[in-house]
Amino acid sequence: FAPPKPVSSFGHFGFDENLISAIRKSEFTQPTPIQAQGIPIALSGRDIIGIAKTGSGKTAAFLWPLLVHIMDQKELEPGDGPIGLILAPTRELSQQIYHEAKKFGKVYNINVVCAYGGGSMWEQTKACQEGAEIIVATPGRLIDLVKKKATNLTRVTYLVFDEADRMFDMGFEPQVRSIANHVRPDRQTMLFSATFRKRVEKLARDILIDPIRVVQGEAGEANEDITQIVEVLPVGPAKWTWLIKRLVEFTTMGSVLIFVTRKANSEELATNLKARDFDVGLLHGDMTQMERNEVISSFKKKEMPILVATDVAARGLDIPSIKTVVNYDVARDIDTHTHRIGRTGRAGEKGFAYTLITDKDKEFAGSLVRNLEVASQHVPHALLEIAE
Ligand code: ADP
Ligand code: MG
Repeated sequence: FAPPKPVSSFGHFGFDENLISAIRKSEFTQPTPIQAQGIPIALSGRDIIGIAKTGSGKTAAFLWPLLVHIMDQKELEPGDGPIGLILAPTRELSQQIYHEAKKFGKVYNINVVCAYGGGSMWEQTKACQEGAEIIVATPGRLIDLVKKKATNLTRVTYLVFDEADRMFDMGFEPQVRSIANHVRPDRQTMLFSATFRKRVEKLARDILIDPIRVVQGEAGEANEDITQIVEVLPVGPAKWTWLIKRLVEFTTMGSVLIFVTRKANSEELATNLKARDFDVGLLHGDMTQMERNEVISSFKKKEMPILVATDVAARGLDIPSIKTVVNYDVARDIDTHTHRIGRTGRAGEKGFAYTLITDKDKEFAGSLVRNLEVASQHVPHALLEIAE
């Protein structure tokens, strides 16, 4: 079997005029590489492991073929569950994918429901029962809705795991297996991410059938459009001093996303910045969903130029105004680093990522050196000195 060839223009996918014109309205001029290669394969019905850098258009690569897939099926009848099921690891990402799905699904009057933890169970149940061809969900909430018989997965024939490696992490593995076991085996299944470690391969083998790997670059490669700058600083107040000195300059270039590893530290940093009259928002997993939605929405609308966040914001979020990412703390692992910095440099734009590292972070320093080298970034001498 030879996989279908990549195409060079939207017209070559075989999409109808309506979808093509919706795509052109988005001011997209040509398919990105993952789209050019992945979409013909998705349309051919094969399972896919799709790996491409952050910001390279993976969402559309699974979304547009899903619309075609739905139009090929018979219409939903009352009581039917969705035909397409898209799972994502965070509430914010599921909402973002939902908006994309709605935007393009409109072309065919396709209904989409977003089911995420923290949202109203009653409203989500009602929306499911009204009938939706697509559900975009976080795994826990989807399982709750199925248990409460708000929806069912008997008609699902197109199953996507976005940020698949995160979804397959130990934390989500039981839910992923449970959902996959509830969906008919003759489905089409797809995994997408910018990173994909060996340890998640086994789960992938269990839920995919003879997948085609569509790999742009290499798994885990940081996007080269992001200029990475590493600052080796002593433990103590140096990080704070550095940030205060540079932050105004960063905000003149665009929105700024600052990553902090622990929730308590993120609160402390946000509070300290506010005390210095910086207009900052805070996002972490212990906030109420309403607070989370509000802060994301005003950050997106550029009402607030700075967001301090934990890794709940590391994956998938597409906020084009973000010009600078600051890793105030280094990430837990190098894949998380790749995703964090990938909140800038999207769709071919340039971005900047600053990583503050101390000589306590020896192990991370080693993996950071490799990450920088592969992405053709400058490796400072001070980093090499502390790297293990
Ligand atoms: P990924 O999932 O690979 O990180 P996204 O799917 O979030 O990337 O897309 C990143 C950005 O690129 C989004 O703003 C999206 O609208 C835009 N985009 C997607 N496809 C194209 C295209 N063919 N041309 C230009 N921009 C695109
Ligand atoms: Mg994505």
